Amino acid sequence: MNREKIHILFFPFMAHGHMIPVLDMAKLFASRGAKSTLLTTPINAKILEKPIEAFKVQNPDFEIGIKIFNFPCVELGLPEGCENGDFINSYQKSDSSNLFVKFILSTKYMKHQLESFIETTRPSALVADMFFPWATESAEKFGVPRLVFHGTSVFALCCSYNMRIHKPHKKVSTSSTPFVIPGLPGEEIVITRDQANVVFDEETPFGKFWKEVRESEISSFGVLVNSFYELESAYADFYSSSVAKRVWHIGPLSLSNKEFAEKAGRGKKATIDEEECLIWLDSKTPGSVVYMSFGSRTSFTNEQLLEIAYGLESSGQNFIWVVRKNENQGENEEWLPKGFEERTTRKGLIIRGWAPQVLILDHIAVGGFVTHCGWNSAMEGIAAGLPMVTWPMGAEQFYNEKQLTKVLRIGVNVGATELVKKGKLISREEVDKAVREVIVGEEAEERRIRAKKLGEMAKDAVEKGGSSYNNVNKFMKELNSRK
Ligand code: UDP
Repeated sequence: MNREKIHILFFPFMAHGHMIPVLDMAKLFASRGAKSTLLTTPINAKILEKPIEAFKVQNPDFEIGIKIFNFPCVELGLPEGCENGDFINSYQKSDSSNLFVKFILSTKYMKHQLESFIETTRPSALVADMFFPWATESAEKFGVPRLVFHGTSVFALCCSYNMRIHKPHKKVSTSSTPFVIPGLPGEEIVITRDQANVVFDEETPFGKFWKEVRESEISSFGVLVNSFYELESAYADFYSSSVAKRVWHIGPLSLSNKEFAEKAGRGKKATIDEEECLIWLDSKTPGSVVYMSFGSRTSFTNEQLLEIAYGLESSGQNFIWVVRKNENQGENEEWLPKGFEERTTRKGLIIRGWAPQVLILDHIAVGGFVTHCGWNSAMEGIAAGLPMVTWPMGAEQFYNEKQLTKVLRIGVNVGATELVKKGKLISREEVDKAVREVIVGEEAEERRIRAKKLGEMAKDAVEKGGSSYNNVNKFMKELNSRK
């Protein structure tokens, strides 16, 4: 075998939900003997630098670095400093979805920089986010294999694929009429047009973009997935045979963070002292705390936050609630019922901003996770062996929630049936019911047992000899043999 070091370029889409797993992946490959280089823009490089430095101090022999690409926001017609998708949420009061599309389309500006970097470094592979369809061609020019990172499960990819092929949404009269997604292996998956949230009109700029995303995947070398084979083997096999794409399940990627500091340093700086948070959890009985968080981008209206607060309080369960406000809400706390924190002081903890999520999920006191079903969060919940309350809101989150509730049977839906932009309010009664349901009772116990088993399987997958561990080996061997 050629012993020359493998060099992999990792190019995450610039948003925390994409950068976090890609950094985990870059660290994973570095720890397995590859040289990893992350490609990003100046502001995002600042976010990645600290955890990378910490990783290098712990592992001086591992090779990992950053290459910074220029991204002139103002010249590109974007607001100054708009280098990260999460910025858009906090910036634009109206029309934020148009700005988000513009931001995604603007990333193509980095194509030339990517090509000249590939030309000079001649890496073994380029792992680029699905939001960069143009990257397949850039890599191809220099004979470098391009891998796609979707950030989601293969189950969700299979759902999207069958929606495109069979177009079941065209056979129903309204956007809220349920239908079965045809062609899937296993369970019948029922969804609505709203929930599927797919851009079908290929004539719009965003529709054209999605078409490019699909085509670039078909001509790519394959797909890397933050999941493990045993979790979704039927779907992985279906995907390989139908889309004829090679898939390497190499996750859960969050499990590559072993130490306290690594787990605490994922994403933004936590707005709570991590040690204090763990001390608070230490004071609670095992499995008694519900952790509620909605990812890196979602924020709710005051009205919805109030319902959540009342629901949590009346459930009587211990909780950690991560609240991210949008910029319209200002500093006042009208979203919190009067005296809420005094009344719930022994039972609850509110984290206003960013939580050290993986540290919390891994704590023995946590017994359930209320999640928006972003795939990173879902996978982190699975890796921690936790049952979940599912509260999907957009993107591919409704597919993820079907996987958690119908296929894996470790989730309870809170009552979220529509995209959040449609404005359905989840009532305090629904929050109360779902939170109790995930912690208390016979069905909760059955769910807990299933979730615990999946958590053990997830950990086995990344251990030496496990399926994800072996997939990393196979993938690296293949890159080596191409040299
Ligand atoms: N996250 C975190 N603390 C927070 C919120 C989010 O550490 O307070 C992390 C979470 O662990 C996950 C990522 O941010 O790794 C969010 O990704 P996900 O796919 O769940 O949702 P998105 O933010 O993309 O909607």
